[in-house]
Amino acid sequence: MKTAEIAQRYLDYFEKNGHTIVPSASLVTDDPALLFTVAGMVPFIPYLSGDVPAPYPRAADNQKCIRTNDIEEVGKTPRHGTFFQMLGNWSFGDYFKEGAIRYAWELLTTSEEEGGLGFDPKDLWVTVYEEDDEAHDLWLRLTDLPEERIQRLGKDTNYWSTGLPGPAGPCSEIFFDRGPAYGIDGGPATDDDRYVEIWNLVFMQYEITDVRSKYDFTIVGELPNKNIDTGMGLERIAFLKQGVDNMYETDQVRPVLDAAVALSGKAYGADHDDDVRFRVVADHVRSSLMLLSDGVTPANEGRGYILRRLMRRVIRSMRLLGVDGPTFATLFAASRDAMKDAYPIVGADYDRLVTYALAEEATFLRTLAAGSENLDASIAAAKDAGGTTIGGAEAFLLHDTYGFPIDLTMEIVEEAGLTVDRDAFDTLMHEQRARAKADARSRKRQLADTSVYRDFRAKGETVFTGYTDWETESTV
Ligand code: ATP
Ligand code: MG
Ligand code: MG
Ligand code: MG
Repeated sequence: MKTAEIAQRYLDYFEKNGHTIVPSASLVTDDPALLFTVAGMVPFIPYLSGDVPAPYPRAADNQKCIRTNDIEEVGKTPRHGTFFQMLGNWSFGDYFKEGAIRYAWELLTTSEEEGGLGFDPKDLWVTVYEEDDEAHDLWLRLTDLPEERIQRLGKDTNYWSTGLPGPAGPCSEIFFDRGPAYGIDGGPATDDDRYVEIWNLVFMQYEITDVRSKYDFTIVGELPNKNIDTGMGLERIAFLKQGVDNMYETDQVRPVLDAAVALSGKAYGADHDDDVRFRVVADHVRSSLMLLSDGVTPANEGRGYILRRLMRRVIRSMRLLGVDGPTFATLFAASRDAMKDAYPIVGADYDRLVTYALAEEATFLRTLAAGSENLDASIAAAKDAGGTTIGGAEAFLLHDTYGFPIDLTMEIVEEAGLTVDRDAFDTLMHEQRARAKADARSRKRQLADTSVYRDFRAKGETVFTGYTDWETESTV
């Protein structure tokens, strides 16, 4: 079953059951602190919080999402993309736990011939929040699940809250068992490689106050209008239905992976580290394409910085796969062809999108060439002098002058049999950040009247986590 067909079946099923079908919102949110749409719920927050009355009692959608905090998982687990699509059904004070559980089970287990997704009930497990007897008993009563395949888990996995006073509630998650070849028995609580989470049902049931931490608060009482928020990973259903090993081998992603394999002249499936790189390339090219199509362009800060880092990571991965020259023309075209049926804008606007991608690639390849030349000279000088280390100051200069990433410096230096004085590099980076902060403070002092800024800040600090999410740039 093709990815697009799975999405269509989902939407058709919920439409038939009285849901209004809502188009995906942009990947770019209005909220500067959030940066990207990270889940299906993001565009519905005003309705879920009760700030704005929902224009429909029930809705369903296929929401484009970006999750940069999953970046380190990409290619290593079978199930994490930086871009993915989250199917969701929503009830705004309409049906609650019973309806959500009935719908999910029916859609998953109805045969393909009858329009369902055709999962064998024997392959499915669910988890409920340990104190949520109601959900536990509903699963038992409404489905064929035996009690031992309904696991009770704690707040860390099975509770939703924003960490602020307001709505909160237990979750119930549905898992697919890939079988003993993928890990140990024992259900989702023991192994998330064998038991793949496919669908999360959130029951927004309570109003909370006195929030001491995300999972430590006081329940005021039941919400007068209880909501349902669910999220099903389209790519996860696709890889399980298509009988492949992971989401990067599904019809919307695999063509990019194949293009990278062809460019490299290496085989997929021959070496674990190379395979991870192929999957990273396939994932990041698609994410970059989708971000560009939603109007993000490469930049040194904010959303554009994330896009830049994704594209640079593709270049780095291709380089580690043995390809030093340009690859974006081929890789982006492969991703366009795989995505344009589902997102026609990707085809229609391709010339504009690829122009940004190609310019970014050309710039970074120049950076790599200039930096490498300098680094090669330093390595030769160190070796001539009988040394074994490249100083932190030299690594810092490469970073500062050429934008040459430290992990790349380390890799090249290590290939030459030397090491980098990483501690000294980190100290210099730290000092530079401190200087930048001090500069910003002194600029602020020069402003005649800062009261307007104080006013704004009093409304709450906006936190941008995009940089720290990337600080631990991978070894891939
Ligand atoms: P996991 O525990 O596997 O990381 P999650 O609990 O973080 O998943 P949710 O926040 O509950 O995921 O999102 C709802 C659904 O969206 C998940 O059940 C899954 O099917 C899908 N999903 C979440 N993150 C990703 C991702 N990075 N790539 C692909 N699908 C995802
Ligand atoms: Mg996750
Ligand atoms: Mg989870
Ligand atoms: Mg979940």
